[in-house]
Amino acid sequence: MGLVKRLSFYGWGYEGAGPDDAARGRLAASLGERFGRSDLAAAPLPRIEEIELPAPRSRPPAALAGLASAEPWERARHSYGKSYRDAVRAQRRDFRHPPDWVAYPSSEAEVADVLDHCARERLAAVVFGGGSSVVGGVETNVDGDYRGVVTLDLAKLSRVLEIDRASRAARVQAGVLGPALEDQLRPHGLTLRHFPQSFEFSSLGGWIATRSGGHFATHYTHIDEFVEALRVVTPTGVIATRRLPGSGAGPSPDRLFIGSEGTLGVISEAWLRLQDRPTRRANASVRFASFAAGVAAVRALSQSGLEPANCRLLDPGEAMTAAGGDGNHALLVLGFESADHELDAWMRRAAELCRDHGGQVPDDAIRTRTDSAATREGGAGAWRNSFINAPYLRDALVSIGILAETFETAITWDRFERLHARLMKEVLAALVRICGAGTLTCRFTHVYPDGPAPYYSLLAPTRRGAELEQWDEVKKVASDILSAEGATITHHHAVGRDHRAWYDRERPDGFARALRAAKAELDPGWVLNPGVLFDRR
Ligand SMILES: Cc1cc2nc3c(=O)[nH]c(=O)nc-3n(C[C@H](O)[C@H](O)[C@H](O)COP(=O)(O)OP(=O)(O)OC[C@H]3O[C@@H](n4cnc5c(N)ncnc54)[C@H](O)[C@@H]3O)c2cc1C
Repeated sequence: MGLVKRLSFYGWGYEGAGPDDAARGRLAASLGERFGRSDLAAAPLPRIEEIELPAPRSRPPAALAGLASAEPWERARHSYGKSYRDAVRAQRRDFRHPPDWVAYPSSEAEVADVLDHCARERLAAVVFGGGSSVVGGVETNVDGDYRGVVTLDLAKLSRVLEIDRASRAARVQAGVLGPALEDQLRPHGLTLRHFPQSFEFSSLGGWIATRSGGHFATHYTHIDEFVEALRVVTPTGVIATRRLPGSGAGPSPDRLFIGSEGTLGVISEAWLRLQDRPTRRANASVRFASFAAGVAAVRALSQSGLEPANCRLLDPGEAMTAAGGDGNHALLVLGFESADHELDAWMRRAAELCRDHGGQVPDDAIRTRTDSAATREGGAGAWRNSFINAPYLRDALVSIGILAETFETAITWDRFERLHARLMKEVLAALVRICGAGTLTCRFTHVYPDGPAPYYSLLAPTRRGAELEQWDEVKKVASDILSAEGATITHHHAVGRDHRAWYDRERPDGFARALRAAKAELDPGWVLNPGVLFDRR
């Protein structure tokens, strides 16, 4: 029998895939020096044999036993998502609220059977795709008078079922992870072209349920745009929407479920709008003397109608850590892609706009390339590698006592400058006050004609045992500023349980009532994901 790779139960990716002990030791030494802390050291990572789990409160009934597991590894792996809070608790070996059992349905009928059982037995059901939620969306510590919690893992619903070449669309089961989806589309020359940073370990259903954002900066990048139709299993029956390229027939039924975060039903299938695989690329790494100059250029680009695939502006700190920058210049990772036409004209005009704002664009970037190295060179290539490796590094940072987290938002251009200045000043001050030191950097993940989606990354040394309280305090400072300045609590990381306090302020009251009414109709027993998005009140 060959070796089967097993997923980590406490962190990102496969077991043993992150930095090894020696690399973690080097990381501790270098960050200890940077933050003036001699006590940073790599703590041993958890092993499943060390984990103590409470006895299950409920057991799968005989009729569901064949698709259920209450193995410790399964229960541990489904206890958390992949946020900093999750990593800290998992590395502390704190698994005090695991699901009682995990169900792996292979069909819609089995999803419905599990939901029926949960409703009858007063169990909560938490839907789990890839488990990459960073907002407590798959957490199984639920409030309420439940007799237990079942995690519904959709991993077995992972096939592309049908392809409509004429309309360039496919019917796909919701549990498929990013690479398996692309593998099944590639032979047809097609792609969904939706690449969140969590692509490797997140699922189609999770993307739809959280309104995920892909890594392309403009135009078609949100999963919302790719959903043509849905099938959703609710506790009161299956809802199937009609395949249409567009429709003005009332509010969109798809949009009720896109972003519903497992509270209204289990998304089992979607018809997706696909694209031809791009064959031509034009890329440039553009340097700016300051972040502000880069912001002005990016605003011009976002309003030019050029719609670059990549338009990531990194501030000088972020450019240094993620793309080999010198620490003084901002960097714009700019790129165009097409399966249809040459891109020289697009890149030439984008270069003019960047140069209008002092951007240094290498002349040789203004050409269309068809070679596979086109996305892997220079600052853009360095940024790409760091983007892919970051999740593995994050677990290592947690293990040496470093707070490593991000927060993100979107705001209109007219208010961006003030928001950004407040965040950089007040969150950094909070890091210094709460953690003694820290760094805060910013990049734009997405840009729209009316505003950017800035994304902030922070690093700080923590006090062992107080990491969660320290992060909660910093997070509150950041989230309160977002709320006060009229920005959104999340551009693409969803609400889950962790953003509830601020989402409750952002979401109009009448809309909250409408969501609760929809929940009462579709999930009258309040089985699905209690505590996410809204409460029963
Ligand atoms: C390192 C890292 C990078 C990330 N990068 C990005 C990024 O670039 N863009 C982005 O948007 N997000 C990103 N995220 C957040 C996360 O990956 C997304 O929210 C993703 O869409 C979640 O997909 P999943 O399959 O892992 O969902 P899960 O984590 O399993 O679930 C997320 C939520 O959706 C619900 N859900 C899952 N599947 C279904 C279903 N079939 N039906 C109904 N409800 C369901 C769950 O109950 C939960 O509330 C990142 C996370 C990490 C850890």
